Amino acid sequence: MIGILVRSVVLAAFAGGGWLAACVYPPPEALIARINPNLIEERARSLGARAMDAALRAGHMITVERISVSEMMESADSAFEIAPRQAAAAAAASAAAAQAQSPFETALSLCPGLSVSNAPPVDAARALSNYAPIVNVNGVALAVNPTLGACLSSGFGPRGARTHRGVDYHSQVGGPVLAAASGAIVEMLYRDDFGNMLLIDHGAGVYTRYAHLATFQQGLTVGSRVSAGDRIGLMGNTASYPLPIHLHYEVLRGDYANPRRSFGLEAASPFAFPAAREG
Ligand SMILES: [Zn+2]
Repeated sequence: MIGILVRSVVLAAFAGGGWLAACVYPPPEALIARINPNLIEERARSLGARAMDAALRAGHMITVERISVSEMMESADSAFEIAPRQAAAAAAASAAAAQAQSPFETALSLCPGLSVSNAPPVDAARALSNYAPIVNVNGVALAVNPTLGACLSSGFGPRGARTHRGVDYHSQVGGPVLAAASGAIVEMLYRDDFGNMLLIDHGAGVYTRYAHLATFQQGLTVGSRVSAGDRIGLMGNTASYPLPIHLHYEVLRGDYANPRRSFGLEAASPFAFPAAREG
């Protein structure tokens, strides 16, 4: 009898001790993770997310709805099925876009706070309306603005008592000047009126002049061939008189074999030509 009583007390003490130990020391994380019942749902969710990702890459718009796991599996299957075809089409389209990507800016604005004479029509934000970045001049696809990060500071035509034979692009920090189309450099020199000046022959009787450059692009010389968008120099304010930093850009047409060479060519406004058709 006493033996049974002692065993019961020892057993009670042992059980009580175990209960106390379990309260003080909670089970380790690994044990909880191993029996996590959410894992199956997580797997379904990750499969759904992968399907959505594939569909997005293929250019689908995704609407997320509350659906059952089996529906999710089904839609995941169909998304994986159509994704390769759609993704291939999207990849081809983006490759074509990259190929057609122009180095020239697609919008142009008048310089802020400046009254620009001879400016083409603009919208309320001073951006040129119906702006065509590339125009067709005698069949040559020519950039209207061969600068980056600059604004239009002067248009083409009568300016005061004189005629402005080009357009001016201004940027306080200067910046690169690009070849407006492919061609060959026929003049590269310093003049008191135009500063560092470069003339490109684009063929078909089309020429472009770039004046007041801070520097010419290294490696260029008369006779060098350039491609559309190639850097030909830096915008500057070189001349024998003080000037704001800007590019004076001229679009010229005619026969270069005349006594006055580039100064015997006819100047035109780059805004006067129709947009060049792509491709
Ligand atoms: Zn000018």
